[in-house]
Amino acid sequence: MKISQRLQQLEPSATMAMAAKAKELKAAGEHVVDFSLGEPDFDTPRHICQAAARAMQEGHTHYTAASGIPELKAAIAKQYQQRHGLEYQPQQVVVSNGAKHALHNVFTALLDPGDEVIIPAPYWVSYAELVKLASGVPKIVATEEAQGFKLTPGQLRAAVGPQSRVLLLCSPSNPTGTMYTAEELAALADVVLENDLLVVADEIYERLVYPGHQFRSFPTVRPGLQERTVVVNGVSKAYAMTGWRIGWTLSPPELARAMGALQSQETSNPCSISQHAALAALEGPQRCVEEMLEQFTRRREYVRQRVAQWKEVSCPEMAGAFYAFLNISAYLGRSYNGTRVENSHQWCLALLEQQKVATVMGSAFGAEGYVRLSYATGMQEIQEGLDRIERFLQSAQ
Ligand code: PMP
Ligand code: GLU
Repeated sequence: MKISQRLQQLEPSATMAMAAKAKELKAAGEHVVDFSLGEPDFDTPRHICQAAARAMQEGHTHYTAASGIPELKAAIAKQYQQRHGLEYQPQQVVVSNGAKHALHNVFTALLDPGDEVIIPAPYWVSYAELVKLASGVPKIVATEEAQGFKLTPGQLRAAVGPQSRVLLLCSPSNPTGTMYTAEELAALADVVLENDLLVVADEIYERLVYPGHQFRSFPTVRPGLQERTVVVNGVSKAYAMTGWRIGWTLSPPELARAMGALQSQETSNPCSISQHAALAALEGPQRCVEEMLEQFTRRREYVRQRVAQWKEVSCPEMAGAFYAFLNISAYLGRSYNGTRVENSHQWCLALLEQQKVATVMGSAFGAEGYVRLSYATGMQEIQEGLDRIERFLQSAQ
């Protein structure tokens, strides 16, 4: 059967693929330590599940408005007002089937063929593919580990061309775990304003920020940014709700209208029950977010200390999210139990095969020579997994 050109070019998600490989091995009875998928290991807090059960019993089992129920939109707008001082009207909110779907909506609504989206690398696996799917052109700009993998104003200025329309920023970052400071965002914002760019600000990890680091929402750093920014966020990471599939955008009203229309044709509303669960997440007690962050903080510190002891492996300061992005370039071009490893993909496959540890290769994030570890898993698993990686590194010849 002939598959469309557009889809023939679509890469399947590497994070999802590595997670599937790990699950296969687990099903075959292996004890795999799984650092592949970026998803909290915690169960969704009880009060949120109870709200979902109540929603079903109360009959919230029908279609809702395609772009989401008004109460949830209002709660999202209120949260941005309270947390960041940004004023949004509920009609500027579109609730989607997860933040990934929200990103798909944004690119579909904004891009015409040939329009460029500037994406700093390392980038999350889905950005470039979603841009291409919407007929846009990803313009990848490599950043340096020494700069914490953060795009500099000079790099942005140099990347802007006549077709550039959008800058994509993900902070805190998947896959690097680093985060832009307010000053760094402001310096990028100046270039954005000079060049009349739009910004897609993926802020899905904003609640997972470690002590000593301060998150700033992009539209707050300079006047005039809210009109040219789409903020992407959701409940997946902060509330351990990956399976519920609720994400959203906050955007200028005309873009929200366009995405609402798209959604009304493409998916209709996101799950009515999940929307009520998300409402309970936002409106209910926030202690659960803090408790999960406390656990992540402990894990992050443990990972940091262990990795610091590894010879010739470096990792940028982890400011947020739950990823360690390791520079393993010194370990490429070497053999592991007779298996020659030339690149990060081969390194991850050899690690999985020989030590049963699943990670994701840097090449999937546009950064060869690196590997991503998601430490959103229990402390014992983390200890075991890092022991195994250490053995793997020591076996390099
Ligand atoms: N953006 C980033 C940076 C992510 O890491 C993820 C995680 N999958 C998403 C968006 C999508 O989140 P969701 O699961 O809500 O679709
Ligand atoms: N965002 C997570 C990750 O990067 C989940 C997987 C995905 O959506 O690709 O691993």
